[in-house]
Amino acid sequence: MLWSFVRPYRRKLALGLVLALVGSALELANPMVIKLVLDSVSGGDGLLGPITLLLGLFVLGAVFGLWHWILLGTVAEKVVLDARTSLVRRYFRAALIPLSHRSSGELVTRATSDTVLLREAASSSVISLINGGVLLVGTLVMMGVLDPFLLAVTFVAVLVVTILFLTLMPSLAKAQERAQNSLGLMGGVLDGALRAIRTVKVSRAEERLGGQILEHAQESARYGVRSVRRQAVAWTVAFSGVQLAIIAILGLGALRVTSGAIEVSTLIAFLLYAFTLMTPVMELSQSVTTLQSGIAAARRIREVEALPLEPSSEGAGTPLPAGTGSGGGAPDSDRGDTLLELRGVTARYAPGAESALDRVDLVLPRHGHTAIVGPSGGGKTTVFSLLLRFLEPEEGQLFLDGVPYLELTPGQVRDRFAYVEQDTPVIPGTIRENLLFSRPEASDEEVRRVLEQVRLAEKIDALEEGPDTPLDATSLSGGQRQRIALARALLCSPDVLLLDEATSQVDAITEAAITESVRDHADRAAVVTIAHRLSTVIHADTIVLMEDGRVRASGTHRELMERDDLYRELVAALHIAGSGERGSVDGSAEPERVTPVT
Ligand code: ADP
Ligand code: MG
Repeated sequence: MLWSFVRPYRRKLALGLVLALVGSALELANPMVIKLVLDSVSGGDGLLGPITLLLGLFVLGAVFGLWHWILLGTVAEKVVLDARTSLVRRYFRAALIPLSHRSSGELVTRATSDTVLLREAASSSVISLINGGVLLVGTLVMMGVLDPFLLAVTFVAVLVVTILFLTLMPSLAKAQERAQNSLGLMGGVLDGALRAIRTVKVSRAEERLGGQILEHAQESARYGVRSVRRQAVAWTVAFSGVQLAIIAILGLGALRVTSGAIEVSTLIAFLLYAFTLMTPVMELSQSVTTLQSGIAAARRIREVEALPLEPSSEGAGTPLPAGTGSGGGAPDSDRGDTLLELRGVTARYAPGAESALDRVDLVLPRHGHTAIVGPSGGGKTTVFSLLLRFLEPEEGQLFLDGVPYLELTPGQVRDRFAYVEQDTPVIPGTIRENLLFSRPEASDEEVRRVLEQVRLAEKIDALEEGPDTPLDATSLSGGQRQRIALARALLCSPDVLLLDEATSQVDAITEAAITESVRDHADRAAVVTIAHRLSTVIHADTIVLMEDGRVRASGTHRELMERDDLYRELVAALHIAGSGERGSVDGSAEPERVTPVT
């Protein structure tokens, strides 16, 4: 798992390993050169040679150490950047439904915090592991060369420390992984809670929800503390082990010097090795820890990277057949009147789940206004999701200009649409950026025109910075947000305009004006609206009534009033009727608001 992140940098890492090994070799040579210095002193030889050698070793060690540090640090940052790049790209190319089933806060944690754990794990720790091992063995060998007896004493200490680490490490890593997991969960809940902060406050749930979120933080801290405790125990025992070994070496070594078995310089060199023994032990255990948390992070990253991609395009992506490209090609009359068609489409949001659409047949003409109405949960939004390829049908097919969707990429399909979603979000940025989002090349006049169509022009002129006023999710009313989204959609002047309850929060007078522009647009292109307001629906060329994932009836308002009970019920419940369109049933309902649509 971790290796897949490291692989692109294997050459650099190999160089890093060589540098680390050279550094270790220099370090290993040090005590020997010091012994040489001491021997030359007692032997009365010149000091210049050995001291120069010692200095040379220092300088070389510093240069190689610097090179090694910078090289690996750079690789580490690149690995993090790679992981972030691939995550962000994956998020945007992933199939929409599986992506939206994961909490966005958690996805953010993966990209921001888990990637950090890769930093050391994917670079220096691999090398430290090898280098630490080599250094440890090297130190022990050098000690053996100096005095096998003292080595045996040291060996016991090293063995104890090693066994201790091997037993503590796995649980240490597990604790760290749990801590990181809890952090991801916390990100998920916190993100959701902040989005709904108003509801949270009004429900007086600050304490409760805050507590719930902090539980994850506390759990993370608990596991963190557990890992710190184990680490502390491990280190203390290791340090004490080495200290005791040094004392033992000193005592037993002094005896051996007295008995003439070894020289003083040998004992000093041996002690120097014993002192440096801590370095490889530390390096080894630290790299094992970072490796383990890095492996866990890599696993979590790969897990979200396994999100299925959009059915981009095997076999698709071929240019559209002649005459089907938007704008160009044969005139409309040659292309038939049908722009979009659903044929026997069944769709589910998850395998085994209840079907959201059940064998739906639907034809959408090239021009005109089609309205989809029906009880909520009836599958209206699902039809849009299928048209926009957020969802793939389980059975049946969709056609665009007679071409099956499967032969087109999602991009080719979406090029023909503009869409105002049900919970119209604003995009981070200014009003202008929001408007130009789908069509960056639109001119100022065009922007002005759509703003007038949604009755926002004056309002925006009144703002100090005009269209360059920054927007965030809270600085607009729901109705204004919807109007911005509508203006964005109208600016595209697409072949198909999909509006999912796009005027549900707009006042009736503004809505009437918008309906007018939408109707204008319907003369030139296809408009499909989902609406609960009858005023939006009543003048549609075709009304499609959906219930329980099926098309129950379709026709004009008048036809449906005559034919369909459910439709009459819906109309009656809305207390609204257009003048002259009043049927017998809704006549009995009180018209609280008479829509000014004429
Ligand atoms: P509506 O007519 O109100 O727009 P939808 O098309 O949104 O209805 O929903 C149709 C059915 O599909 C509902 O039963 C709903 O619970 C289900 N559904 C909608 N969106 C999702 C989703 N993202 N994941 C799982 N089920 C969904
Ligand atoms: Mg809906």
